[in-house]
Amino acid sequence: MSMDRPDRVAAQLAERGLDALLVTDLVNVRWLTGFSGSNGLAVVGPGDQRLFLTDFRYLTQSAEQLDDAWERTVAPEILIAGAVAVAAPAEGSDGPLRVGFDDEHVSVKDHGTLASKVADGVELVPAGGLVEELRMVKDPGELAAIRAAAQLADAALTEVLGRGLAGRTEREVALDLEFTMRRAGAEAPSFPSIIASGTHSALPHAAPRDVEIPAGTLVTIDWGARLDGYASDCTRTYATGELDPRDREIYDLVLEAQETSLAAVRAGVGGREVDAVARDIITAAGHGEHFGHGLGHGVGAEVHEGPRLSQRSEATLAVGQVVTVEPGVYVPGAIGVRIEDLAVVTEDGAEVLSGLPKHLQVIA
Ligand code: ZN
Ligand code: ZN
Repeated sequence: MSMDRPDRVAAQLAERGLDALLVTDLVNVRWLTGFSGSNGLAVVGPGDQRLFLTDFRYLTQSAEQLDDAWERTVAPEILIAGAVAVAAPAEGSDGPLRVGFDDEHVSVKDHGTLASKVADGVELVPAGGLVEELRMVKDPGELAAIRAAAQLADAALTEVLGRGLAGRTEREVALDLEFTMRRAGAEAPSFPSIIASGTHSALPHAAPRDVEIPAGTLVTIDWGARLDGYASDCTRTYATGELDPRDREIYDLVLEAQETSLAAVRAGVGGREVDAVARDIITAAGHGEHFGHGLGHGVGAEVHEGPRLSQRSEATLAVGQVVTVEPGVYVPGAIGVRIEDLAVVTEDGAEVLSGLPKHLQVIA
């Protein structure tokens, strides 16, 4: 870790008028502490307090993964009840202790448990998104993991395409791709792979079917690999033979929108502005209503995280963020095309992590 993440969180506490933060979401816990088990909770502050709770099963693993700054405690399996003990006003302190909790992830039930057990004078304050905001900017180690995941995913798809597309079922191709990524060292696919051919490609989140991929159509493949806790995400659309001119036209339109909006990515630009670059091109071609999702999203420990690139985004891109640029045109009942790259935001542009070509390729 190039920066001390717990200290970055502690600095945020001061800014938000909090004395402590309960970190309960496991992705946030892993980012903060390095712990990758299935039950862990971290408390940052007050002061330089760094407390980690887990259950009996993770005694050894947590000792290996956490550094000495963390005081480790074994708690009952419902960790949030154990967290209450630490969130108590110090001896002799006056006034309530303001303890932030992740209202975007803590269930109503857990919040009830917490509220019923906190000491008098402790105030539970919604602080959702605090860690997620810090997670948006990646350090060099995180960028290396995402880059490696993207390279692994590219190599796996290249291998799968070598076995052809037409005549295989969407499910066969999806399984082949996921198996190939796992065999190459991926922990898992980042998400269930999308293999969508023909009219099915008009569904942005199509699930692979037991249907043979026909010749002479388009196939959208959206896939990613998870490696060292980080995800990749990419989409390519391939032809399986000679295309209907309409399909070719839509491909060229999406490619133009993708390349132009990708070229607009750089630090200081708004997520809404980048989205508009692609959306204006697609709208001018008469397909505005066929581009019904945002242009992109952040990628890191989670495949969908901040910042968003969309019509409603309030994000301003910053150096070290990793975002997708993925315009699509989906004509219901006819055809769909999506082209997606993964890129690191830099001072004056973007470093593209997805390496596969984007000109229309025929994979029979
Ligand atoms: Zn994707
Ligand atoms: Zn995506």
